[in-house]
Amino acid sequence: MQPRPLARQHRYITWLSLSLMSFLALMVLIVYESRWVYPEIQAYFSQTGSLTGQQLSTRARVYLQDAQSELLSDQPEQEALEAATMDIDLAYGLADMHIYRREYACAEPSLTELDRLAALLAARDIDRIAAAMALFAPIQCLTHIEMDQLDRRGAAINDFSESTRQHSLVLTYSSLLIFVMGLLFWWLHERQLRRTDRATQETFEWMQRAMRDPLTGIGNRSALHQDVLAKQHQSLGLILVDIDFFKQYNDAYGHPQGDTLLRQLAALIGKTLNDKAQLYRLGGDEFAALLHCPDIDTLKSYCHQLIEGLREADFMHPAHPDKKGVTLSVGGSCFVADEATFPYAYEAADKALYRVKTMGRDGWQVTEDA
Ligand code: GH3
Ligand code: MG
Repeated sequence: MQPRPLARQHRYITWLSLSLMSFLALMVLIVYESRWVYPEIQAYFSQTGSLTGQQLSTRARVYLQDAQSELLSDQPEQEALEAATMDIDLAYGLADMHIYRREYACAEPSLTELDRLAALLAARDIDRIAAAMALFAPIQCLTHIEMDQLDRRGAAINDFSESTRQHSLVLTYSSLLIFVMGLLFWWLHERQLRRTDRATQETFEWMQRAMRDPLTGIGNRSALHQDVLAKQHQSLGLILVDIDFFKQYNDAYGHPQGDTLLRQLAALIGKTLNDKAQLYRLGGDEFAALLHCPDIDTLKSYCHQLIEGLREADFMHPAHPDKKGVTLSVGGSCFVADEATFPYAYEAADKALYRVKTMGRDGWQVTEDA
């Protein structure tokens, strides 16, 4: 069975909705990422503040160690004190950070100590060795700050890696979920489509069967009505055929043989009319043929052909009252196909057939101007 355009359209709409849903899901993920992951990244980079803090403390420590070296060097007193004072001032400037004072207990006393030392050195009120020794405490403090800042940086990197790993997991599982959901929707949709197709196919076959005569395989009365409606405004001929003395035939040969005769006659009528006609069994031993009928003479020639065709076939009828083989009574009429005209055409053909019956059977008649 051909896939119906409606089913195809349905399929496209479903896939479109699925793509749209996947797209929306991805959008949600992107929003999620920008809402949660990017701030994490920012937090990571904000650690560069701490890194700077670590670098500041390192530099300050290096200045203080330089100052110590200068104080303990053998250069002239004046120069050594000036260089050391300058280094201490530089170190003080770098270490004088609000965050150090707040976070590290040793920062405040160290800065105070540096302040005091700078003043003593400026006043030449302290000897070089004592000054160098006094620098140990601030150096130790700055080293502690430096190490702590390094630890914080490591912790920030670890946190960031962990949260990135978790977000990647969320992203992977979400994508998998979307994929599985897509598959599920597709499967449900396909299953529904298959069921609908099967139901339509079954209905179609059932309707086909309902339009067929099971014995002969040709159309039945409903099919005749349907075909007439399908040929609106065409000039048609309706031929009705009834077997003569069929009851006696059944009585003589039995019903199964009667059935065989019905099948043989259906084939014979089709062959005689050169497959130009559509055939129907209207019930019992009555057949109908529907064909194109440009004029009444064409119809008459078809009726004549039918009688002659049967005569040539020469089917035996041992119980025929007139000692003949199987004979037929045929009636016909021409009409322009229409829902309204068909009952009249049928009646006219039936009347013609009845005339044949009353006139002794084995013949044909047509009703003109049906
Ligand atoms: P007439 O010449 O007046 O038509 O006489 P007839 O005996 O043919 O009478 P009629 O057409 O009224 O009878 C039809 C007979 O067809 C009646 C019934 O026994 C027989 N018949 C109806 N349907 C079937 C069928 O499916 N198979 C067989 N074998 N016989 C059938
Ligand atoms: Mg009959």
